Amino acid sequence: MTATPNTGCAGEKNMLDGKRLVLVSNREPYVRKQGPDKGHFERTTGGLVTALDPVMRRCGGVWLAWDPGGDPALPHRFEVPESGPTFTLRQVPLSRGEVRRYYYGFANRALWPLCHYFIDRCHFDDEQWNDYVAVNRRFADATAQEAAREDLIWVHDYHFCLLPRMLRERRPRGTIAYFLHIPFPAEEVFKILPWRREILEGILGADLVGVHVPSYVTDFLGCCERLLGAKVDHGAKVVHWDGRQVAVQAFPIGIEVEEIEGIASAPETASRARRIRKNLKESKVVLGVDRLDYSKGIPERLLAVERLLEEAPELRGGLTFVQVAVPSRTRVQEYRHLKRVIDELVGRINGRFGDSSWQPIRYLYRSLGRQDLIAHYLAADVAMITPLRDGMNLVAKEYCAARVDEDGALLLSEFTGAAEGLASGAMLVNPFSVEGTANKLREALELSPNERSSRMKLMRAHVRDTHINVWLQDILLAASKIPGADCIG
Ligand code: UDP
Repeated sequence: MTATPNTGCAGEKNMLDGKRLVLVSNREPYVRKQGPDKGHFERTTGGLVTALDPVMRRCGGVWLAWDPGGDPALPHRFEVPESGPTFTLRQVPLSRGEVRRYYYGFANRALWPLCHYFIDRCHFDDEQWNDYVAVNRRFADATAQEAAREDLIWVHDYHFCLLPRMLRERRPRGTIAYFLHIPFPAEEVFKILPWRREILEGILGADLVGVHVPSYVTDFLGCCERLLGAKVDHGAKVVHWDGRQVAVQAFPIGIEVEEIEGIASAPETASRARRIRKNLKESKVVLGVDRLDYSKGIPERLLAVERLLEEAPELRGGLTFVQVAVPSRTRVQEYRHLKRVIDELVGRINGRFGDSSWQPIRYLYRSLGRQDLIAHYLAADVAMITPLRDGMNLVAKEYCAARVDEDGALLLSEFTGAAEGLASGAMLVNPFSVEGTANKLREALELSPNERSSRMKLMRAHVRDTHINVWLQDILLAASKIPGADCIG
C-alpha cells in the first residue's frame, strides 16, 4: 500500500499506536549552538531530520546520534527542541580517534567506496574495522538502555550495519527496522569486503531491511543466499535467518515537495533566478549540484562539457555550466585530491575556451542557502545530474519540484536510484561515456519547449508520488506488519 502524500505525518501516529520510535542515525537531529547562546540546540538540515522531527515530536521517543569529540563526563541526554512537544536526544560521545577510524575510516573509506562500486578506492584496515565494531557496540548498549520492549527501533545507514544484530542479542523479541541510504552493490563487488559475513549478519538482525530501489533488494538477497548460505524466498523478498524472517523491501526516499514549491513560487526566488541568468549574460545555463565526492562524477561531467564545446563551436559564448560543489569529508585525502583535479579541469577549460567577456564554467565551491539553491534550479535550462553511482540523488527530485513553471530538462545518470523513477521524463545518460554525455547534453539543450514541459510534468508527478511522507508512512506500515510487531500494529 502507498500512503497519499498529502496526509502529512498524521497517519504514522496510528501506525505507532502511541508506542515510541527509537531512532539511531550517525548525524544528530539537533546540534548545540555555538557562541554566546551555547547550551541551546538548533535543528540540523536534511531530508531525514525534516521528515522525522515532527513524528518524534508528536509521538515522543528517543533519537540516538553521535557526539564527535564529546566528553563522556558531560550530560548526553536532552529534551529537544526547547519549546513545544519534545523528544529525547541521546548523544553517544566518540573520541577523535574513533571518529577518525570508525567514521572517516571504515565507514567512509571501506563501506562507502565499496557500495558505490569504487573497489580501487577501498581501504581495508583492521584497526578501523575494530573501531567500527566498538562504536556499533557502544550504540547498541545505549540503544538497549533507551528502548522499551515494545518500542520500534529504527537504525539508519551504513555507519551502523552491525547494530541490528547487536540489538537482537540484547532484545531478542524487539522490533527492529534498518534502512540503508546508499546503494547495496552487486555480489561480485560486495564479496571483496573481508568482513562481508559480519556486515550481512549484522543487518539481518533487523526484522525489516529497507533500501531505495528494487535492484538493491535483488543484490542484497543474492548476497544473503550465496555469501551466507541463507534460505531466501525471492518472490516474497524474505531471508530466513537465525530462526527468523527478515523482510527486504524497496522504499524510494523522496523530498518535502511543498517546501520546495513554496520557495520556488516566491517572487524573491524568481527575481533571484532572473539575476543569476542576467549575471551569466543570458546564456544557456547548465547546472550541476553535488557534494564534492568522487561518486558524483564531477570531473567526467566537466570533460563532457569540454567535449561539447569542442564539437559545437557555435555554443561558445552562449553556454555556461554552473557547478555547485559542496565541501565534503575534507579530512580524507581522496577528497582533497579530487578537489585539486576539479580545480585544474575548471582552469583548463576556462583557459581554453573563455575570454574576457565569457567563461564557460562557473565553479562555486561552497554550500548555497535554500533559496539561492532553488533559484539556481529555476535559472537552469538543463540540470546535469550525472553521478557515477548514487543511492538515490535528491537534487534530481528537488530540481523537478522547484520547476513550478514546468520547464527545464534533466540529464540524469542511469546509475542513480532516482533514474528508476524519473526515467520517463529524464534524459538518461551513461556518465562513463564522455562522448555519449556530451551528445545527450546537446540533445537536452535542443529540446522543444513542448517536449521539455511534457517531460517535466511526468517527473513532477513522480516526485509528488514519492513524497518523503510516503516513504516514511510506507516504512512504518511495513514495520507494523512484522509478525509479532503487535507493539506497532
Ligand atoms: N544541498 C544544499 N545546498 C547546496 C547543495 C546541496 O542544501 O548548496 C542539499 C540538496 O538540497 C540536497 C542534498 O544537499 O537535499 C544532497 O542530497 P543528495 O541525495 O543529492 O546527495 P548526497 O549529498 O546525500 O549524497
